[in-house]
Amino acid sequence: MNCHDFNADNIPVGETPAKELLLQIQEMPKCGHCGNCLYSYIMLAQNIDDEELKSLFGDDLLEDTALIPELNELAGLVSNPYPNRLRIARVNKVLQGISLQKERGNKALIKHYINECIKQYEGDMLEEYFNMAP
Ligand SMILES: [Zn+2]
Repeated sequence: MNCHDFNADNIPVGETPAKELLLQIQEMPKCGHCGNCLYSYIMLAQNIDDEELKSLFGDDLLEDTALIPELNELAGLVSNPYPNRLRIARVNKVLQGISLQKERGNKALIKHYINECIKQYEGDMLEEYFNMAP
């Protein structure tokens, strides 16, 4: 098993993952450059600090701007005819929490995420404004 077969849907939101699951993630080979690695990284970042994450994945994936397309996909920021709604909800829940953490709010992918959310919010506001116009 490697990162491409691993399903991070198993990592719970809001609670510490079981020891066996962490051990499994620790032992499997991870490329550190794919959507599955990023998904696992984000889900683990709720409960695991940067140093430990870096030692697990070899790098700080939240600083890797090459992963922006994967992040957009995971967070549902790009249109997709077959969105994985459960995954998108899980990722957004965790990213919102991480965005509020002082030491993580400045990471490249978190900044990108916050900017995209603001853009989407402004888009919705504008649309509402024009819908209200007579
Ligand atoms: Zn990978």
